[in-house]
Amino acid sequence: MSEENKSPPVDCDTIGLQGLLSVSEALQRIRDALTPISGFERRALRDAHRCIVAEPVTSPLNVPPYVNSAMDGYAIVASDIPKEGEVTLQVVGASFAGAPFDGTLQAGQAVRIMTGAMLPEGADTVVMQELARREGEQVTIGSGHKPGDNVRHIGEDIAKDGMVLTPGQKIRAPELGLLASLGVAEVTVRRRLRVATFSTGDELCSIGEQPREGQIYDSNRYSLFGMLRDLNVEHIDMGVIRDDPQAISDAFESASQVADVLITSGGVSVGEADFVKQTLDRLGKVNFWKIAMKPGKPLAFGTVNNAVFFGLPGNPVSVMATFYQVVQPSLRYLTGETATQAIRVKVRSADKLKKRPGRQDFQRGILRTDEKGELRVHTTGNQGSHILSSMSQANCFIILAAEAGNVEAGEWVEVEPFAGLFG
Ligand code: AMP
Ligand code: MG
Repeated sequence: MSEENKSPPVDCDTIGLQGLLSVSEALQRIRDALTPISGFERRALRDAHRCIVAEPVTSPLNVPPYVNSAMDGYAIVASDIPKEGEVTLQVVGASFAGAPFDGTLQAGQAVRIMTGAMLPEGADTVVMQELARREGEQVTIGSGHKPGDNVRHIGEDIAKDGMVLTPGQKIRAPELGLLASLGVAEVTVRRRLRVATFSTGDELCSIGEQPREGQIYDSNRYSLFGMLRDLNVEHIDMGVIRDDPQAISDAFESASQVADVLITSGGVSVGEADFVKQTLDRLGKVNFWKIAMKPGKPLAFGTVNNAVFFGLPGNPVSVMATFYQVVQPSLRYLTGETATQAIRVKVRSADKLKKRPGRQDFQRGILRTDEKGELRVHTTGNQGSHILSSMSQANCFIILAAEAGNVEAGEWVEVEPFAGLFG
């Protein structure tokens, strides 16, 4: 990572209640320690998908570039609209999208027109074909039309020289279309963040290997892969590192040489923390926090050489919850994205939810519309931090305040839809 992006280490001072740090406090401390990356690059439109805009984009032209019809129908002169009864106009030609009518419309005349076709000179109103009666070269319309009906104006969508995209905006499908509508072929975006990941644990076995007794497959490697891919970072996957001081030290060294950010899973819980801590004390400045969140209490954050370091807990649901709640907004901030807050809404819980006061819960929920058409959230059941299937069944987090106790069915709770978090 470049010189200016060096993160000052974060001190483990005023930790709150029972030695726990709230999620929002942790987020604030992390943000205070980070500086968004500064590298820019020009990218062709398609390659810029999901990148963050680095320089303002203004429009080189008006969209639409000419007055055109919003409907299939007849272009007319507004003064021909009858106050009452009907009027019959002479159809003098047609204007198709891409093949305009060549001439000027006079009072008493109409031009057959299609959606998106240029409005003929002299015309100022379009009557929908459903409201017109065509007989040979004549068309009859009634009263009730307003001057200017069904006409799209020059620059109505985007005005020439107007601001189209501002720095910090993510380029999604609508932005790609918007840029294309202006004929823009390239855009200046922030360079992609380089993020290295590895899993730690002697119990972990990789896909393709035969698990020995007491071994499990490394799933965090894959959930992290998916979460990072959704974020459009450059991912350096370093696989599984054994619980061995030299192996861990080597992995941290090499990862911090190539990546802006290093994310590990496992090895930061009580007992193991000291082990990883020894390595990290030599290579950087890392704090081992206890976050007031469930799942995902232990979290390490700091710097390893020049890379920003996040040490996530090992349990598969804890990894995903801490990633979405703490790491993802921080990575988005690092990439220069302005809007990093996911959407939260209040709905009634369909079920009773077990909750002990003390930590903020990120329970897994299923948002569903009931038979009365009301949106309710259901629990996925067992909320253990090892129940990864709960993340797969869920479509939202149910966020319960640290001080809250059990929730009764019918009570209002805050939910964070995955739709805003994933992809
Ligand atoms: P740790 O934080 O290393 O003590 O791990 C906590 C729990 O998460 C243990 O049950 C580990 O076996 C499990 N775990 C750690 N890393 C992984 C991983 N990469 N994939 C699946 N489970 C893991
Ligand atoms: Mg472990």
